[in-house]
Amino acid sequence: MRRSLSSLALALFAGINLLGATGLSQAEPMGHTKIEHIGERATLKELIARIPDVRNQAIGMHNGRGSLPSRLVDAVRLSDIDDTIVTAVPDLDYGTDDLVKLIVYVSKKLEAELPEHCAPLTVMRLSKRGGGEITGPFKTGSHQNGLNADFGFFNAECGQDSASHVVGWQVEPSFDVDANWKFFTALVSESRKLRSDGRIAMLDMYVDKAIKWQLCQRYQYDFDPLTQDTLHLLRPRWMGRSGWIWHRFHKNHIHITLRCPQGDHLCENTSGPRTYRCPDGTKACAPEVRVKENGCKEVLHEKTMRSPTRF
Ligand SMILES: [Zn+2]
Repeated sequence: MRRSLSSLALALFAGINLLGATGLSQAEPMGHTKIEHIGERATLKELIARIPDVRNQAIGMHNGRGSLPSRLVDAVRLSDIDDTIVTAVPDLDYGTDDLVKLIVYVSKKLEAELPEHCAPLTVMRLSKRGGGEITGPFKTGSHQNGLNADFGFFNAECGQDSASHVVGWQVEPSFDVDANWKFFTALVSESRKLRSDGRIAMLDMYVDKAIKWQLCQRYQYDFDPLTQDTLHLLRPRWMGRSGWIWHRFHKNHIHITLRCPQGDHLCENTSGPRTYRCPDGTKACAPEVRVKENGCKEVLHEKTMRSPTRF
């Protein structure tokens, strides 16, 4: 049984929307919204079997800046596949089958790895049915072709909310580092399942620089390949028209972008993070080499520049 989520959507989204609409650098804390799951739990196999066997397609670039208009053809609606996953905005829960599969994979993985009382997943915003620019209260420049998703962070009570967990360079204790790290690494590892060539299908993941710094402090010298891949893909800045811009809007949610699905020939990727430059010219270099390119140095540099008295 589904219930109306419109009030929950507004509560969850108030932080994101405030930022998008006004350009403020920080969200109003919304408190911890308790999220209850609905519907019957199905197995992963049952969920994946629900995805229609129709060739859907992402067209153009996720941010509308490609050579073709951004569209989403024969979209899959997440709430039709798994109604135990909370979708905050019912009309913005359409994606490519790659994106919907990833969310189902990650949700199931977290269900197994996080304590039972934790909400497996809350999705704030995917794309419109058919894609294209999202206007109105949930306006954004991306999310235009079914390859983007926004999720709230896991809080200290192990639920997900839309509260800001960052003040300046400080990540608040309300941000559950362990649960969020499990979430971020799951997004990366599960994205391999979307491709027949075993590559990571995640193009990048946006978080605030304070969150990246917090994770760098803990993991930057951990040589586990998944750790380094995840740090590499967590990006606190993006390439705007006039150069690199540090995010202001990801203190309360993570935004992900998938690579164009294999076979979607009208889909265009944005650049993503730099690829690893291995000494022998290959892309699959050792984790200890990748440590140099996990993005932690640039965040430290920014931190040092912005708060010199603290070093
Ligand atoms: Zn987003």
